[in-house]
Amino acid sequence: MNVLVVEDEDRVADFLCRGLKGEGWTATRAGDGETALSLLKEGGFDVVLLDIMLPGLSGHEVCTRVRARGDEVPILMLTALDATDEKIVGLRKGADDYLSKPFSFDELIARMEALHRRTRARAGATPGVQAEDPVQFDREALCLKVDGEVVELSTKERDLLALLLGNAGRVMSRERILNAVWGLNEDPMTNTVDVYVGRVRRKLGDHASRITTVRGAGYRYDAQDV
Ligand code: CA
Repeated sequence: MNVLVVEDEDRVADFLCRGLKGEGWTATRAGDGETALSLLKEGGFDVVLLDIMLPGLSGHEVCTRVRARGDEVPILMLTALDATDEKIVGLRKGADDYLSKPFSFDELIARMEALHRRTRARAGATPGVQAEDPVQFDREALCLKVDGEVVELSTKERDLLALLLGNAGRVMSRERILNAVWGLNEDPMTNTVDVYVGRVRRKLGDHASRITTVRGAGYRYDAQDV
């Protein structure tokens, strides 16, 4: 993973860069916003750790400019301020996540990995088996690609599939599905979940067997055809 660390304080920047390198990652440091912007223009970064309190351009300003030029690089904002307002401003300006100082290095790493995973999933570039998976799911585009064919999904179908996919290999009870997808604790129709699972299965075409009905328990999605 190639990380850009945008931090003006030497002590903090050194700590971050050393820690990231210890994880086997590449860390590049920018001491101010302008430097960060020109480095980002060259591209190639997987995640940006962006401090808010910087000399010159603030972290928020950097974030705004990066997004304004269409750069989707994942940004994790860092700040000494643990104020909700600051977090909201940062997220509105296009930051993907937020961490208040002081933070544990383990948490930082975990969040960066999560961000990286999310971005890769969004780009459909998950390495290994899934790269060749005939079932490609794009949550944001509300669509599924099955054997290269685009299949449209309704929002409920998408939410249902996202839940099952995100918990692949695990049985999801009808109650859990109902709660996560419809925000209900009781089924007004008594078979809403089953009806939607049927629809999603049909949309999976030849890969419908990936959703298994586990009698008396619920449904399970398997990442490979069974
Ligand atoms: Ca700073």
